[in-house]
Amino acid sequence: MSFYVPHASEEFEQTNTYIDEKKGVFDWDDGYCRFCGKDFQSESSFCSKKCEEKYKDTLKTPCDVCGKKIDLFKEVRHHISYFPERVSFVHASCHNKIHKTNLFPHLKPNKDEIDKFCKK
Ligand SMILES: [Zn+2]
Ligand SMILES: [Zn+2]
Ligand SMILES: [Zn+2]
Repeated sequence: MSFYVPHASEEFEQTNTYIDEKKGVFDWDDGYCRFCGKDFQSESSFCSKKCEEKYKDTLKTPCDVCGKKIDLFKEVRHHISYFPERVSFVHASCHNKIHKTNLFPHLKPNKDEIDKFCKK
């Protein structure tokens, strides 16, 4: 009689990998709030909805026109200068204001530069 199992070591390795993956996930959401660091003893990333909102807010880019945060992936790339390239992130509505009014002369690209850029 033999208790030799040919695939035993292989199975053991797979189990180890599985545990490591679990641990990795657990480390990420370890019951400490990602924003304020509070230990709230629950398998989540934030202690409250408020902290989640605030954390997401820190990932957003402020608008160079109005200073308010722009929703993620809603940023409009506006060229302040083409040579050298300087890009500013603004709201779509604020972008219109830059181009259609003279309220933000410091954000307008230099007219000579636009001419040069367009003639290229
Ligand atoms: Zn918190
Ligand atoms: Zn804005
Ligand atoms: Zn623009």
